[in-house]
Amino acid sequence: MEKVLTVCPYCGSGCQLYLCVENNKVVGAEPANGPINEGELCLKGHYGWDFLNDTKILSKRLTKPMLRYSRSEPLREVEWEEALDYVADRLRSIQEKYGPDAIMGTGSARGTGNETNYVMQKFMRAVIGTNNVDHCARVCHGPSVAGLTTIFGSGAMSNSIPEIEDADCLLIFGYNAAEAHPLVAKRILRAKQKGAKIIVVDPRRTEAARIADLWLQLNNGSNMALVNSFANVILDRGWQNDNFINNFTEGFAVYRKIIERYTPAYAQTITGIAPQLVEEAMKIYTHSANSFILWGMGVTQFGQAVDVVKGLGSLCLLTGQIGKPSSGVGPVRGQNNVQGACDMGALPNVFPGYQPVTDAANRKKFAKAWGVEDLPDKIGFTITEVPHAVESGKLKAFYIIGEDPAQSDPDSGRLKKSLANLDFVVFQDIFMNKTALHADVILPATAWGEHGGVFSGADRRFQRFRKAVDAKGDVKDDWVIIGELAKRLGYEMHYQNTEEIWNELISLCPGYAGATYEKMERQGSVQWPCRTPEDPGTPYLFKNNIFQTTSKKGIFFATEWRPPAEVPDAEYPTVLCTVREVGHYSSRTMTGNCWALTKLADEPGYVQISVEDANLLGIEDEELMRVSSRRGSVMSRAKVTERVKPGTVYMTYQWWIGACNELTIDNLDPISKTPEYKYCAVKLEAIEDQ
Ligand code: SF4
Repeated sequence: MEKVLTVCPYCGSGCQLYLCVENNKVVGAEPANGPINEGELCLKGHYGWDFLNDTKILSKRLTKPMLRYSRSEPLREVEWEEALDYVADRLRSIQEKYGPDAIMGTGSARGTGNETNYVMQKFMRAVIGTNNVDHCARVCHGPSVAGLTTIFGSGAMSNSIPEIEDADCLLIFGYNAAEAHPLVAKRILRAKQKGAKIIVVDPRRTEAARIADLWLQLNNGSNMALVNSFANVILDRGWQNDNFINNFTEGFAVYRKIIERYTPAYAQTITGIAPQLVEEAMKIYTHSANSFILWGMGVTQFGQAVDVVKGLGSLCLLTGQIGKPSSGVGPVRGQNNVQGACDMGALPNVFPGYQPVTDAANRKKFAKAWGVEDLPDKIGFTITEVPHAVESGKLKAFYIIGEDPAQSDPDSGRLKKSLANLDFVVFQDIFMNKTALHADVILPATAWGEHGGVFSGADRRFQRFRKAVDAKGDVKDDWVIIGELAKRLGYEMHYQNTEEIWNELISLCPGYAGATYEKMERQGSVQWPCRTPEDPGTPYLFKNNIFQTTSKKGIFFATEWRPPAEVPDAEYPTVLCTVREVGHYSSRTMTGNCWALTKLADEPGYVQISVEDANLLGIEDEELMRVSSRRGSVMSRAKVTERVKPGTVYMTYQWWIGACNELTIDNLDPISKTPEYKYCAVKLEAIEDQ
């Protein structure tokens, strides 16, 4: 049996594992001694390889290009030549008729790797001529990138995942590590065992809340008010770090003025949190030697997400809890390569390395390297703006790689109508899914395990992942497909392998310049920034309190709390919040095709409902129930639990039947355009005669 060292494809932790291969077939996985996992894996890491063997449990592996010349026809299998020629012809004619900005493309935060994301954004910018490229960071940590870039000049996790266990205080805000990143949860447990104080802010009793020293069970949708009250109590008690504020920050006077109003007593009217708890929490946070704030979707999936991220960053500036080991900010990125897709510039406003497209010098540099006369300067559409852009007639074609927006984006009824109204949809992936049903052309790609490259872990960690088996079927690597399309559109990409792509991209990004394949092999991983051949990489950012803003100072920010867009009323009296299921990943095309993982959770989702609400409605545990919003109505199974407060229910978005995104609202944060998945109004009904 051969063992191939690679990186898990399932979450941003970036655990290393061996794929066990016999006769060109993956038959198992074993943990490797990676810097994050140190010889352990969670369930998904252990059992999440089976989809490679095309089990057909949930859906069928795509093994041949498919095409239809009219939406009234079924898709039929064709040869690559026909499929690629047709895609190139249609993209060219739409480009000529409506202009390049009528075409949108996506990168992918899943198993495709950094090289594919680099090539895809290059294709959209240099070949199509638009900045309309985005990916699913938009629907998760987009607010973290936008908010932290404003405050610190860098939008990533400031410290490393292994540093979590050496923090003296962990402030865990809207983040359920046990479900989202089990090996990060392990570090939290170790921190607790080493004596750290754990403060958890979450409306739901998560696993972290169970082990917390303090659990602040705030009202859903009140984050900004609570963060403001944290700052208020710090200033009122004189627990701020004046030396840090005076020497390393800007904007404190304006910040203080806004914060003044948010006394813990006033904030309690919004958050429901007793002032004494706020004070206790901030006493621990400010008096600990190293405090580390971790957050997840409970911060970012609100209409006021960017403001809250900035507010959390400002707590670090207020107290000096940043710029040293185990102290700073940790937006723990969800999908395995969502950090990488951002790092590679699969975003509508930046080139690779977060270099703004609006900067003429950046455009000149990339245009010269890519051999084109100029590059577009207008910021492109985000993925969440697609429905509006289609409805207004601005968008005509959508080239989707490794994404399933029909399942994962909010208000899926509206999204599906948009897909149907587009002139041309290209879908490039490894499995059939709900989005594929709307495609004019399907391009089948190799999967994780069948190709190699580099992933970026949540803590800015570049790691090599490797090919273990040859792909079955008539499939191609994503970057090869994109290159063949580019050639048909008159642009040669000339890459022979992923290392050539990687060397080009690091030559254009000063922060990655020293992160060669050779260094990744030698060190096991490299954390950016890594600027020179001698530089081993950077475990934590902002050493000596030098930030990456223009002034090199941290920028304070506070603002008023504003309520979610759709609050409960008489007709829809309950709050719906979306969450994750630990055994499954994203829209489940990979994990739903793994036998062991489907045995762990094979029911079409659930509705977590409080004991009180279930009693009131006459709903028993495990019974089917109906959940309806102004946008749709689904049936799902009740999970009656004491983990949730009355008045709120929680659903996963991962199940194909009873998909909660038929209910969610597409209210977007005004800056990051991230949807408010965590809050909309629904009504609950029992289903009689079961
Ligand atoms: Fe994979 Fe994440 Fe589990 Fe590690 S914690 S094994 S990266 S899913």
